Amino acid sequence: MPRTLITGGAGFIGSHLIEYFLEKGHEVISMDNLLTGDVENFAHIHSENFRFIKHDVTNYIHIEGKVDYILHFASPASPIDYLEHPIQTLKVGSLGTHKVLGLAKEKGATILLASTSEVYGDPLVHPQKEDYWGNVNPIGPRGVYDEAKRFAEAMTMAYHRYHQVKTRIVRIFNTFGPRMRIRDGRAVPNFISQALRGEDLTVYGDGSQTRSFCYVSDLAEGLYRLLMSGETEPVNIGNPHEMTILDMAKKILESTGSKGKVVFKPLPEDDPKVRQPDISRARRTLGWEPKVSLEDGLERTIEYFKSKLLLPHALTIFQNIKGDNGE
Ligand code: UDP
Repeated sequence: MPRTLITGGAGFIGSHLIEYFLEKGHEVISMDNLLTGDVENFAHIHSENFRFIKHDVTNYIHIEGKVDYILHFASPASPIDYLEHPIQTLKVGSLGTHKVLGLAKEKGATILLASTSEVYGDPLVHPQKEDYWGNVNPIGPRGVYDEAKRFAEAMTMAYHRYHQVKTRIVRIFNTFGPRMRIRDGRAVPNFISQALRGEDLTVYGDGSQTRSFCYVSDLAEGLYRLLMSGETEPVNIGNPHEMTILDMAKKILESTGSKGKVVFKPLPEDDPKVRQPDISRARRTLGWEPKVSLEDGLERTIEYFKSKLLLPHALTIFQNIKGDNGE
């Protein structure tokens, strides 16, 4: 049975990877320091092939026994998180990546680094192909994340070239799905929770900036294929369906039937104006492309947010009514 370590396993994507790899017959060890992750995300998993270790991967990592695969997903990933934790973000991308690469070398494991479309910064090439080097402001507020991930890619390639470690680099574009946090701060969870509460949707700037949103199960499939391939060059994984943020807000108002409206707020500094993955490399080398439509993905995500937001609320009302009746 292959043995797989997932760092950031208590996060949104990490927790989906735990399920995916268990289903593929792996023994899975999840590691997280719970800075932005939550054990609730895997509380429903009761497999004897799964265990959790609370550990900060910027410190030396010790794992008893063999490790075949490492998926390095530990990092704050929402702009508001890396603004709140700039130094931890830099540390996990640099020191954390160094530690997991050291572990991969020691164990002879194949390691997949979760990199990001943020390495392209505010891109001057559109759509973004893997051979574009990017347009990143190193000293801006997003620089802590972007530069940490760029450093992580450089470190990964150095371990590959110098120590012959089997490495993979995925550049993940905007991803959404169940288990994003209600207070995550990113566009999709913000808009859905605002819509379900009947609040106005906060669109930053004039909403003409674009993103391309991939449903999390498509991402998991792409990551698995990349890990099992021999591809050591970075690979974009994302959905090429590009849309403006204003259109996404409108789509979510429509899908939730919310009575809220759109309100405009200031655009954060260095917010990329456009983003769309060129996925020809993933298509060619992995035979992968996304399958889940935006509508289906939103429906599943909205269901999850309803269960998180509306059920506890309904329960409180129910308990209050029971209390009023003197029961
Ligand atoms: N955004 C928005 N309202 C929100 C949250 C985000 O208009 O409540 C915008 C944000 O400025 C960016 C886009 O939506 O232009 C996507 O932001 P997100 O934080 O989801 O991820 P990013 O792609 O910027 O990393």
